[in-house]
Amino acid sequence: MKVFKFGGASVKDANAVVNVAEIIQQFPKENIVVVVSAMGKTTNLMELLLDAYVSGDASKKTKLFKQLYDYHYIIAMELGLTEDASFMSIFEDKFAELEVNLEEEYSEYYDYEYDRLVGFGELMSTTIVSGFLNHIQLENRWIDARKVIRTDSSYRNAKVNWEKTRELCQRKIATVFDEQCKVVITQGFIGHNQTKQTTTLGREGSDFTAGILAWCLDADEVIIWKDVPGMLNADPKYFNNCVKLDQISFKEAIELSYYGASVIHPKTIKPLQNKEIPLYVKSFIEPKNQGTKIHASSQNDDKTASFIFKENQMLLSFVPKDFSFIDEQSMHVLFGYFAENNIKVNLMQNSAISFTICIDYNSEIQKEITEYFKDVFYVRYNDNLELLTIRHFNQKVIDFLTRDKEILVEQKSRQTARFVMRS
Ligand code: ASP
Repeated sequence: MKVFKFGGASVKDANAVVNVAEIIQQFPKENIVVVVSAMGKTTNLMELLLDAYVSGDASKKTKLFKQLYDYHYIIAMELGLTEDASFMSIFEDKFAELEVNLEEEYSEYYDYEYDRLVGFGELMSTTIVSGFLNHIQLENRWIDARKVIRTDSSYRNAKVNWEKTRELCQRKIATVFDEQCKVVITQGFIGHNQTKQTTTLGREGSDFTAGILAWCLDADEVIIWKDVPGMLNADPKYFNNCVKLDQISFKEAIELSYYGASVIHPKTIKPLQNKEIPLYVKSFIEPKNQGTKIHASSQNDDKTASFIFKENQMLLSFVPKDFSFIDEQSMHVLFGYFAENNIKVNLMQNSAISFTICIDYNSEIQKEITEYFKDVFYVRYNDNLELLTIRHFNQKVIDFLTRDKEILVEQKSRQTARFVMRS
């Protein structure tokens, strides 16, 4: 069995949906679980609709609802689905249900409401993909991910209950496949808690859904279909001449996503690594091409240097006012604060009387921290910085990428060199 994942860009319009169907048709003998995200930028639109609902702005709500409806209707129409009465009754029922949900009284619990409403994008995209496969006589079964992915109640960042999810997957997905039906279509991103409320796995969480399903169903492989040829050694937004990584290890993939490479959702790798299920990142534009294979072997990891670039960074330095050492106790206090306030430290460094962190720029956080620690630390900051991480570096690469830059912090281990710098 294979698990495929198609993101928003791969289902953004009617042609894209046809392309998805063509890719699935290239594997006629395989049982495939297809995880689909919301179409195009629908999740962003759902967030705006949610805000209109929360703020009680009825006219904005109506406008956005119509925009959402029209976008999906046009895709369905171009696919020839609006002629099909049974498809249209499902389509209309789903929108009617959303409309009812948007009329309910606001619970004052934003994260709960977010999960209750925002996953609608995935429900619609899968309804259309499944409807189109039926239309071209490709037998498939639409499965509601809210009935198989069991999580806790941490709305917007739900934690998976692996055992329960496995049991549900085995019962509700594994049993679907037979000689006639080889394709299951389901949603990424959404799940449910013990009391059947909808939960979500966090933005971009559909990759993770593919990893969860692969783990639960003991899949042979996962393919994430993207609009890039595979995992690249750098973000083409910042670097020319990017190179595709043909093969990397799970460990390398986790490291790259930890440092900020954004091709795969970071949580996706762990379940696959745990069962040694290979993950391929392939182009949905050129599906026959090789892509990147992510698997257990680390043999090829150091063949190519990878660069990860984060813009808009700031350094915050903490210097004890009484000239005491930065010790375990002061670190404990600082990290307690970071953890409680969800401050993600991208890099850190300390000396005897100074402790420095690099974080995403946020002037509010800088002010709050300065105020909070004003009796104990002098808090100094530098902004307008860039954080560059180079995996499998060599001096030539470093010299090239740091040319014309002022380096404020530099760190090196055997595999990784990192620089906080200013243009
Ligand atoms: N649709 C969700 C998002 O845009 C989940 C996903 O696409 O992975 O974040």
